Formats: sequence, C-alpha cells, structure tokens
Amino acid sequence: MRLIMLGAPGSGKGTISKMLVEKYNIVQISTGDILRGAVAAGSPVGKQADAYMKRGDLVPDGVIMGIMEERLREADCAPGFILDGFPRTIPQAEALGGLLKKLSLGLDAVCNLDVPEDVIIRRLTGRRTCTNPSCQAIYNLDGKAPKKEGVCDRCGGALAQRDDEKEDVVRARLKTYVEKTEPLIGYYENEGLVLTVAGSESRLLFDQMVAKLGK
Ligand code: AMP
Repeated sequence: MRLIMLGAPGSGKGTISKMLVEKYNIVQISTGDILRGAVAAGSPVGKQADAYMKRGDLVPDGVIMGIMEERLREADCAPGFILDGFPRTIPQAEALGGLLKKLSLGLDAVCNLDVPEDVIIRRLTGRRTCTNPSCQAIYNLDGKAPKKEGVCDRCGGALAQRDDEKEDVVRARLKTYVEKTEPLIGYYENEGLVLTVAGSESRLLFDQMVAKLGK
C-alpha cells in the first residue's frame, strides 16, 4: 500500500500515519522528522534547512526532492509507504509523479485530514517535547500534560517548546499550508485518489480512514 497523508500542521498526520504503519506493515516517511534529524546532526542538508524551518517556511523543493529520491529507493519501502508531510507544493507533487514513474510505482490513495483550525492551534502551541535526544517524548498541555510542569515523566529530562510551535510561527505555518499545500487536494482529486475524513480525534479519524481504504 502506497499512501500520501495530507493535512494542516497539527492535524494529526504523524499520529495517524503511525497507526496506518502498524495496520498495513508499511513504512512512514516524514520529511519533517528527516529534516529535524539533519538539523540536529548539523549535516549539509540540515544547515540548508534550519533557517526556513525556524521561520515556518517551506524548505526549497530541490533539497526535499534529493531527500525523497534517496529514501524511496531504500529496500524497506518495497512493501509500501506512507508519505507524511510530503508533497507540500504542486511542484513537489509533479516531481513525485515523475519519481514514482521512474521507480514503476503507483499510489493507492491520498488521505486528507480535515481538522478545525482552533483545535490545531491549541494542539501545536501546547506541545512540549523532551529535550533528551534518546527520549523525545511528546506531551500536550491541552490533554496529555506531564505530571510535573517542564519535566519528562519518562526520563526526567527537560521539556521544551519547539521554535516552530510558538504561536506566531504556527500561524505562519498554517498560512503556508493554505497557500501552498491545500491546492494539492484538487490536484489529487483530479486523479481520483483523495479520501477525506473530518473531525479532531486521531483515533476516530484513523478508524474512518481504514473504512474508506477498505482493505
Ligand atoms: P512538519 O513536521 O511536517 O510540520 O515539518 C516541519 C517543517 O519542516 C516545515 O514547517 C517545513 O519547514 C519543513 N518541511 C517538512 N516537509 C517539507 C516539505 N515536503 N517541503 C518543504 N519543507 C518541508
């Protein structure tokens, strides 16, 4: 099964992708995670991406396509994959189409998450991540708060708010989503691939998506 996950930042793409990975035995490819790893490692890609990410802007398409071409050729992608956070622009979608053709692969569906904006803003600005690199547990002040403020329940590490989860940056990311990524819904609708589920609870959205995927 080969899927694309579409949805605004904070719509639950990562969480629902992980559930689909378990259900269908496929791999999750998150460009956001790959880029954060590259920034943390200080690699050349990380150095190129860092400033864009801090502002809530998209990293240039050329950088992203280099990452994706390398990743999709890896052996663990053979049983299937879910693309989480990619493509983010029409040019990326077109480049992905070319790449999949070159690899003789097709897409099964584009999963689109429709989550209210107020839920997204509360969720993203309330997120706190453990700064211990070997833990990275995620909490949310709105729902899954740590027992002690600012301290990880699991390892005792300090919790921090990611730069791109501060309110002004969250609003910039949402604006970028509406301008650059939302048009992909129409693009893939023309290919008859879009499955949309609406709501705010990730577990319910997952159940609806599995029913629509029908496998
Ligand atoms: P995410 O965790 O998917 O919200 O991604 C975090 C940040 O990484 C985004 O705000 C962008 O700066 C960058 N990023 C992730 N995926 C892409 C992509 N496909 N194209 C451009 N930038 C991306």
